[in-house]
Amino acid sequence: MKNGNNGSRRKFLYDIGLAGLSIPFISAVGNCTGETKKQKTMSAKNGKLGIALVGLGGYAGGQLAPALLQTEHCYLAGIVTGTPSKIPVWKEKYNIPDKNIYSYDNYDSIKDNPDIDIIYVVLPNNMHAEYTIRGFEAGKHVICEKPMAITVEDCDKMIAARKKANKLLSIGYRLHFEPYNLEMVRLGTQKIYGHLKKISGGFGFRAGPSQWRLTQKYAGGGPLMDVGIYVIQAMCYTTGMEPIAVTAQEGIKTDLERFSEVEQSLTWQMEFPNGLITECKTSYADNMNFLKAEAEKGIFELTSAYNYTGQKGNTPAGAMDFPHINQQARQMDAFALTVKNKKQSIVPGEMGRRDVKYLQAVYEAMRSGKRVLIKAE
Ligand code: NDP
Repeated sequence: MKNGNNGSRRKFLYDIGLAGLSIPFISAVGNCTGETKKQKTMSAKNGKLGIALVGLGGYAGGQLAPALLQTEHCYLAGIVTGTPSKIPVWKEKYNIPDKNIYSYDNYDSIKDNPDIDIIYVVLPNNMHAEYTIRGFEAGKHVICEKPMAITVEDCDKMIAARKKANKLLSIGYRLHFEPYNLEMVRLGTQKIYGHLKKISGGFGFRAGPSQWRLTQKYAGGGPLMDVGIYVIQAMCYTTGMEPIAVTAQEGIKTDLERFSEVEQSLTWQMEFPNGLITECKTSYADNMNFLKAEAEKGIFELTSAYNYTGQKGNTPAGAMDFPHINQQARQMDAFALTVKNKKQSIVPGEMGRRDVKYLQAVYEAMRSGKRVLIKAE
């Protein structure tokens, strides 16, 4: 399928607020202007908003910082780190001036730095709330990684801080900017192949031995908090609905030492108002990465759904054929534009809070063995 139905696809993108993005639907892997990194950084203030990454771990260093060399509306202006030995490498690689380098101790003084417009919190899950709230108190806009926080109460505090500061909050939901997942949204919500009869999804990988991800205090749970959240998201954006109840079953632990605090794997079901019950799974011990929707007139699915790139999809009309873009660059550019245009993020704190509510409901169902109702708010 060659990006079938372009007219309605364009309209769809426009409807969800991406039409203002000047990022073309082309691979963003190379810099086609031939501009060097140094030139780009020196001209960076020309209409671009400055982002400070907070926490220089795997995702910040492996994905976000490189993506910020490709963005049109924002750039990497500063860093916040608790590991001084990381500073020389980042300074050199991204041309960051000393005045824009912070530790967790002097983080609040970022309020006096006009180079920083947006704080991007990329810390372990239990630190998201504190650093987001302090970011707002410093008068900055904030992007916070998923899951937004460990508890709904923390999400409420983050949203209250956002309102008090009169700034914008966005969650790092990069797949809302990814063409194959957007196509699943279009096919599902516009009922292109009729009503959905069945939908399933799974995201799992083999986690390393001694990460904060395996610690309840830091992660708030296991693979559900980390990658299962993508499946929860996919169920909501493909159906265009919000669940009314969940049930869940913890998988057997084959490694009791590694998984002494959090689940090793989990299956759960989400029940939607029209009676549709979706099948979901996640794991830190098995690789899986799919989203499958069975509709009245056939199956549409992503056989590689949630990774940073390499999405693959099929529909009754044939294989999906969209460009593979830099999701993080598009996500951050979209937020920079919402800030510039004083619009609301399409992945706001309220969506992050909603998902934390679902995560908590799934854990409650897992522990109680009961069907847990989700209260509409
Ligand atoms: P890492 O463990 O690789 O990095 C976390 C960084 O946080 C550390 O390198 C460290 O940076 C800082 N940190 C501060 N305090 C602590 C602490 N007590 N323990 C560990 N690290 C600490 O994690 P990731 O980068 O993989 O994940 C960070 C966040 O990003 C998570 O919330 C995760 O869910 C999210 N994420 C999102 C992805 C997406 O696709 N949207 C993909 C991957 C992660 P420093 O040394 O600079 O202080």
